[in-house]
Amino acid sequence: MIHQPDRRKFLSTLSLAGASVTLAGSTFAYIQNKVNKPAILGGPKAHPDQFPAWPVSGKREENGLAEILQSKKWGRLNGNTVAEFENKYKEMTGAKHCLGVSSGTSALYTSLGVLDIGPGDEVIIPVYTFIATYNVVVLNYALPRFVDIDLESFQIDASKIEGSINRNTKLILPVHIGGSPADMDAIMEVSGKHHIPVLEDACQAHLAEWKGKKVGTIGFAGAFSFQSSKNLNSGEGGAIITNDEMFAKDAFNFHNQSRGNDDENSTYSSTRGTNLRMTEFQGSLLVSQMSRLEDQADLRSKNAQYLSGLLSEIPGIYPAKLYPGVTKSSYHLYMFRYDKNEFAEMPRSRFLEALSAEGVPCSGGYGMMNKENYVQNLAKNRHYLNLYGKETMQEWLESSSCPQNDQLCEQAVWFGQSMLLGTKKDMDQIAEAIFKIRTHAGDLVKS
Ligand SMILES: *Cc1c(COP(=O)(O)O)cnc(C)c1O
Repeated sequence: MIHQPDRRKFLSTLSLAGASVTLAGSTFAYIQNKVNKPAILGGPKAHPDQFPAWPVSGKREENGLAEILQSKKWGRLNGNTVAEFENKYKEMTGAKHCLGVSSGTSALYTSLGVLDIGPGDEVIIPVYTFIATYNVVVLNYALPRFVDIDLESFQIDASKIEGSINRNTKLILPVHIGGSPADMDAIMEVSGKHHIPVLEDACQAHLAEWKGKKVGTIGFAGAFSFQSSKNLNSGEGGAIITNDEMFAKDAFNFHNQSRGNDDENSTYSSTRGTNLRMTEFQGSLLVSQMSRLEDQADLRSKNAQYLSGLLSEIPGIYPAKLYPGVTKSSYHLYMFRYDKNEFAEMPRSRFLEALSAEGVPCSGGYGMMNKENYVQNLAKNRHYLNLYGKETMQEWLESSSCPQNDQLCEQAVWFGQSMLLGTKKDMDQIAEAIFKIRTHAGDLVKS
C-alpha cells in the first residue's frame, strides 16, 4: 500500500499520564488537552482560526471575465474560450478529446445519451455516491444496479460487480469517490471479460491518477464536474474526456441539439439531442482556475498524507485507504471512519458536534442512497412498472441491499477539500481536536 501513513507511534509511546510531548516535528498539546475541556463543554477551540476560503480567485479571473463581457461573445457558438479550456484540459489529462458541458450531470447524461442507454438497459453504479450518478440512469429509464462498497476504501467493491451483471447490463459506471481512484484494474478486467464499457464518474477526481494515468482516461470516457464545491470550479460546469474520436463527435452533437460543429458535420445526427453547452464565462473561469489547479492539488495531497499519518495513530479513526494502484488522489473529500467503540460509545452525531465546536467543520457524508424514499419509490413509478414489470421492480428493491454501505454511512466523517489548502498547523490542530475529544469521550457522552 503506497501512501501508508508513516507510523508515528505517538499514542503508544506517549502514555496519557504525561511523559514526552514532542513527536516527529509536530508538537501536540497532549498534557494541555488533558486539562483543556472540549470546546463544546466550554474549553478553548483546538482550531481557533479559519480554514482557507473557497473558491480562490483574483485578477486573473476578473480580467478574464471582463474580456468575455466586452467581447460580446458570451456563448461557445460565438467565441473560442470554451475551446481553449477544452484544449488545456486535454493536455492536463492526456486525453485525446475533451468536451466542456454545462455540469457534471450533463457530462454523464451526454455520455449515456451517446451510448443510447435506454428503457430495459441496466447500469451498474456504486451505492456510495452523489445522487447525480443514480439520476442520469433513471433519466434514461434504465435500471440502476447498486453495488456495495469496500469499507476500507469507501470505493465500489470491484469484486462484487460481476455478480450484478446480467444480459441487460450495458454500462459499468464506477465513481472515484472523494477524488480517490476506484480499483480500476479489477474494474477493467470485469469490463473486458463481459464486453461492457466503463464510464468513469470522475466528477470529484480532477488530476487523480491510477498507475500514472489520469482518471477518466482508463475507461472509454470520464465525466468531470466544475460545480462550485469541486476542486476545479466555474460555479457550474462539466467536461467529458475520451480517447475515442467517434464518441467525442457524438458527444458534441448530443449536447448541441444533435448538430455538429463544422460544415461537413453540421447536420442532425443520431436521433436525440439537447442543449448542454458551456458558456464562454465558464470557459474563462476554468482557464484561470486551471492555472492554480496543480499547485492546489499538490498542497491537498501533502496535507492529506500528513493528516492521515496523524489520524492513523488515534484508535477508532480509520482514514480511507488508497489502493496500491493509486498514484495520486485529488482529495476532493478527506474521508475517514469513526468507530464509537473506541470513543466510549459516543454516537457519531455527538462526535461531529464536538469536532465542529473545536473549529473543525465536518459532516457525516452521504446517507444510504438505496434506502431513500426517493430511490425506493422507483419501484412504484408507473413507467418503470410498465417497462420492467412488478416482479422485476420487486427483485430490484430486494437486490439493492448493501450491508457494507450501511455500516459506512453510520461511521463516515468528511472534511471538505478546501480545509486541505490550509497549513501543517491546521492539520496538527485537526488531529489535536480529535485527540482531545477522545480523551474526554466519557464526559462528552454524559453531558
Ligand atoms: C458533483 C458530482 C456529480 C454531478 O456534478 P454537477 O456538476 O453537480 O452536476 C456527479 N457525480 C459525482 C460523484 C459528483 O460528486
